[in-house]
Amino acid sequence: MIRIPHAIHDDLIDHARSGFPLEVCGILGGTDSTVSAIYRMTNTDASNEHFMMEPREQFSVVKELRAKGISILAIYHSHPESPARPSEEDIRLALTPGVSSLIVSLQDADHPVIRSYRIVEGVVTPEEIVIVKTESS
Ligand SMILES: [Zn+2]
Repeated sequence: MIRIPHAIHDDLIDHARSGFPLEVCGILGGTDSTVSAIYRMTNTDASNEHFMMEPREQFSVVKELRAKGISILAIYHSHPESPARPSEEDIRLALTPGVSSLIVSLQDADHPVIRSYRIVEGVVTPEEIVIVKTESS
């Protein structure tokens, strides 16, 4: 299970829409299973079918999270025109056990779909997403 505050959930959709028709990607940080931070990353592939996080950006986010004492809970990316299911490449490239793979699908532009998966050695397990009400909203 991964818990995502409402505001970050909205931000994920906003990021995916702002990058359309290309894939966007980023990192969700937090503690235990609760997300508390979102980092938009540059997709150096600039593609509508795959993504690669900019390595220096990724490095500085990892450093910042460590300084804050929070961990990477998920790596997210968008699927501008396909369902919120991991592609064969997503499965092959999911190299970090313990980190969720979150996909934002804009296939139905009016109804974005967000799904989370655990991918370990090629085995894909869907993970429940719980949207947490943001305190200030
Ligand atoms: Zn993908």
